[in-house]
Amino acid sequence: MALSLLDLGLVERLDAPQGCKYIMALDCGTTSVRAAIIDEYNCIVAQASRPLKTFYPKSGWVEQDPMEILASQIAVMMEVQFKSGIHSDSIAAIGISNQRETAIVWDRDSGQPIYNAIAWQCRRTAPIADALVAEGCSDIIRSKTGLIPDAYFSATKIKWILDNVDGARDAADAGELMFGTVDTWLIYNLTGGAVYATDYTNASRTMLFNIHTLEWDDDLLEMLDIPRGMLPETRWSSGEFGRVSSEIMTHSPLITGVAGDQQASLFGHCCFDPGMTKNTYGTGCFMLMNTGSRCIKSGHGLVSTIGIAVNGVVSYALEGSIFHAGSTIHWLKKLGLLENAAESSDIALSRPDNGGCYLVPALSGLGAPWWDADARGLVCGLTGATDRSMLVRAACESMAYQSYDVLRAMELDAGVELPSLAVDGSASRNDFIMQFQADLLGIPVVQSETKETTALGAAFLAGLAVGYWEDMDELEQNRVLAKTFEPAGNRAVAERDIAGWHDAVGRARSVVQ
Ligand code: ADP
Repeated sequence: MALSLLDLGLVERLDAPQGCKYIMALDCGTTSVRAAIIDEYNCIVAQASRPLKTFYPKSGWVEQDPMEILASQIAVMMEVQFKSGIHSDSIAAIGISNQRETAIVWDRDSGQPIYNAIAWQCRRTAPIADALVAEGCSDIIRSKTGLIPDAYFSATKIKWILDNVDGARDAADAGELMFGTVDTWLIYNLTGGAVYATDYTNASRTMLFNIHTLEWDDDLLEMLDIPRGMLPETRWSSGEFGRVSSEIMTHSPLITGVAGDQQASLFGHCCFDPGMTKNTYGTGCFMLMNTGSRCIKSGHGLVSTIGIAVNGVVSYALEGSIFHAGSTIHWLKKLGLLENAAESSDIALSRPDNGGCYLVPALSGLGAPWWDADARGLVCGLTGATDRSMLVRAACESMAYQSYDVLRAMELDAGVELPSLAVDGSASRNDFIMQFQADLLGIPVVQSETKETTALGAAFLAGLAVGYWEDMDELEQNRVLAKTFEPAGNRAVAERDIAGWHDAVGRARSVVQ
């Protein structure tokens, strides 16, 4: 008999109590895919993850391989069962959260993608978005989708594939192609092609979905020349999305929760009431404020989106997307200034201040609240005394400054002052950044017990649909907080730092190219 992975010591085994049921959450991110097993007390009892490759075929172009995304997702689903000893017969339901906006187009017959996934960070379609603005389409797009025309959202990426991949336009017109965001791609393949669907939160990021009527919008489809037949069915985030095929999981658990990663994280933080706000510090930073039934039209560079779509009720959200946050730290690693991301906290803390050095990580333009595709990254305030620690500190600070700008914009739009900010994501484990953030904002920054709030949110959506948790009150009662960073430090120093940052942003926005 062959040795098992357990015998080889490659996986640990936690003995699952007999008869217990768990929820499995699939978190298909940008830098990695994860699978987690969650118990009824909202605890992650096991998880597995794999890194994902990203390709940069030309300046500003960003792609991923849809087959790698799928294969890695299935691999971690298997690995987490091995690790935990909790197998598919103990899984009550599966929830999916995913990187949003990334566009995949595949052949209806063969199931093969016709092009790589065009990732959310990809800027190749900026000219298409610019043309929409020049043609005066901004208002209609804004009023229907809550979004501002930008290459970031899926619509221009789909159009690019149809216009640039050989034979794609004809195939689309003949009904031979299917489009999906990453959730749809996974659902379709995990259910063996039985379910072709997305949820309202993911649909709201395509720039083709009317967030008021909850339908694909024919005017927008016509504007972008995208056939309606290549779009998936849209559903509430908590409800049935089909069974995982028995080839992948023996007992074919149901998929009953789906949401875009940022919305899943909003749900995972239990930001169920208007005014509640979370910020995720990952590759980028994504701040969402629940605005309840009010779909607020931002006057300060934010977008409106579907925040929570559960039990037949939509809660809208104001969202600010910052393109480069943790990726700035990754970039410092590439330059050889850091060995790992975690050490950035101690290095930043080794200095009393930034020494007047600011780093604006406009590595592919600036997102909210500036939306300036032409801005370019810069480091300013260099002197002979500038060293590695100063640059690392400036990079860490830049995450907090960018989040400060978005949060202030949100407060202005919503007409509220936030009492606190809930945080998650890998870089939220950086104590320096979190304390600096609290000092800048002057409000407590609250870390949840797990940094995997996105996975938790997907699990909550799935569990609610099958009665694993009775209701949202139960989820709130089980919520475990880790650490609160109280604002400290001198307000005048914070104001000086903010002024220095804004001066640097102004310079980044006027770099001559
Ligand atoms: P994703 O955006 O794929 O969901 P994560 O939430 O894991 O990813 O965030 C990964 C990013 O966060 C990477 O770019 C990494 O450089 C950065 N990062 C990870 N840990 C830290 C840390 N302790 N401090 C600062 N940045 C970090």
